Amino acid sequence: MHAVSADRALLFRLATSSQLERIVTAVPAAQRRAWRAASRYVAGTTFGDAARTARALHEVGVGSSIDQFGELVHDASTAAAVASDYLRLAADVAALPETVWLSVDLTHLGLDIEPHRCAEYLTAIAAALPVGRRIQVGAEDCSRTDAVLACILTTAGHGQRDRLGATVQANLRRSRTDLDRLIDAGVHVRLVKGAYVEAADLSWPFGQATDIAYVQLAHRLADAGSQFALATHDGVLQEALLAGLGPRSVEQLLGVQPARLDALTARGIPTRVYIPFGDSWFRYWMRRVAESRGA
Ligand SMILES: Cc1cc2nc3c(=O)[nH]c(=O)nc-3n(C[C@H](O)[C@H](O)[C@H](O)COP(=O)(O)OP(=O)(O)OC[C@H]3O[C@@H](n4cnc5c(N)ncnc54)[C@H](O)[C@@H]3O)c2cc1C
Repeated sequence: MHAVSADRALLFRLATSSQLERIVTAVPAAQRRAWRAASRYVAGTTFGDAARTARALHEVGVGSSIDQFGELVHDASTAAAVASDYLRLAADVAALPETVWLSVDLTHLGLDIEPHRCAEYLTAIAAALPVGRRIQVGAEDCSRTDAVLACILTTAGHGQRDRLGATVQANLRRSRTDLDRLIDAGVHVRLVKGAYVEAADLSWPFGQATDIAYVQLAHRLADAGSQFALATHDGVLQEALLAGLGPRSVEQLLGVQPARLDALTARGIPTRVYIPFGDSWFRYWMRRVAESRGA
């Protein structure tokens, strides 16, 4: 158990190492090898690739949420360009089945530099979506949770809560309080274990403590009558919660435990797959490798 945690922490540090990314992507053969491994988790580099994957999933009864890779944008003009891309995506999903949503990380929309502008972008993108679709906002590291939450609540307050989704990380000690604020605001919640390795005083250890928090948060959502999805590949958690709460949406990442998702879909459980696309796949892939340890 400790070996797995140490392994995960080390891989997580590598995942966020821009030096490693530069080294691997500078050597064409290494980049090709890395891409071959990463492509299990990534639709491709273009929206067309993601749209094809989303259509194929829809054909077999599975919804999706398309994300254009990117995070940690630190200049205003790049954030504005990303916002334009997302406005285009919001229009483009109208041509895709109604089960196709969008996902975004707010640091991709410049959260770190201009949080107010970022909230404006998110509100505009949500408003541009066809009725019945959502943009699901990713949860990033704990130092940004306040800013992400503020942005989501602002957008919900501007009449967009039905086109919005938040992500709540069970491994964070603060999540119970955050969840209550999202429940009060009527925002759809994607409940995850949490991908980031955080300080011990802010987080529960991965494993039993996080799993217990996950169960408690799921029950809290169900008791409040909220709309939410169980976004985990943990079959035991999925089955325990489905048995206790009745049919609920389950969300998984592209390329992770697809057989489980198929089995759930065949039983009539609503399912959705997160589909990322774009050039900046390296860090995402390393995070997934870190999580696949102990599989
Ligand atoms: C739809 C969706 C959206 C997410 N969004 C966010 C977000 O915004 N912020 C955030 O911090 N986290 C996010 N996550 C990631 C999440 O926090 C976890 O890090 C990740 O899902 C792994 O945890 P798990 O719940 O699947 O449970 P685990 O206990 O880690 O895994 C359960 C089982 O699935 C297997 N498994 C897990 N990952 C892999 C993999 N990559 N390859 C092969 N097998 C694997 C495990 O080995 C194990 O058997 C998201 C996850 C999903 C499904």
